[in-house]
Amino acid sequence: MIVAERKPLEEIKEMIAGYKRILIVGCGTCVTICWAGGEKEVGILSSQLRLAFGKDGNELLTSEVTIERQCEREMVEELRDKVQEVEAILSLGCGAGVQTIAEVFEETPVYPALNTKFVGMPEREGVWVETCRACGDCLLGETGGICPVVRCAKGLLNGPCGGTKRGKCEVDPEKDCAWTLIYRRLEKQGRLDLMRKYYPPRNFQAVTRPGKVEALQA
Ligand code: SF4
Ligand code: SF4
Repeated sequence: MIVAERKPLEEIKEMIAGYKRILIVGCGTCVTICWAGGEKEVGILSSQLRLAFGKDGNELLTSEVTIERQCEREMVEELRDKVQEVEAILSLGCGAGVQTIAEVFEETPVYPALNTKFVGMPEREGVWVETCRACGDCLLGETGGICPVVRCAKGLLNGPCGGTKRGKCEVDPEKDCAWTLIYRRLEKQGRLDLMRKYYPPRNFQAVTRPGKVEALQA
């Protein structure tokens, strides 16, 4: 999932200063799950902004809506009637969502209320961690499903550095050494021979930027 977090209220307020009618749009997928941009967060931000504007003696009219996915044009189209009634849009989607809305409604300014952080998963309630850097050349099949590109502080591909100590990382002793985790996982699977495999340097051309994927035809 894409993990994001809300920008500070002051920053959002500054972005939309000068507008009187805005549409606040949530996204019902990744950012709902990471408590950043779902229906609840839209409601909270809307109230906070109205209060903050009111305190400064300014009136702000907000309308609120949450669509299933902001990164799909067809779903963004559902907003057309509401967009006609406002001066600007505040999106609580990830960067892809904001850009899709901006593309569909080119004549209306769109502002991001979130900072998109990474591709990750929940570690425990209320905490998400990065698990994939979208490197374009996945090697999880040979590392026991643990990504060294992201989870090793140095992104090492051929076993641990000399600094690993009692299974912890030298860069952050609070964190497990990724290569110790990989070793233990492969041990459980009876695949420790993979620890001897040599991985050549990453192919940084596996993903050119901007990335593009075309589905394989059946
Ligand atoms: S190897 Fe690359 S694609 Fe696979 S999980 Fe790690 S960063 Fe993501
Ligand atoms: S201690 Fe382990 S996780 Fe930390 S940088 Fe070295 S190999 Fe990577």
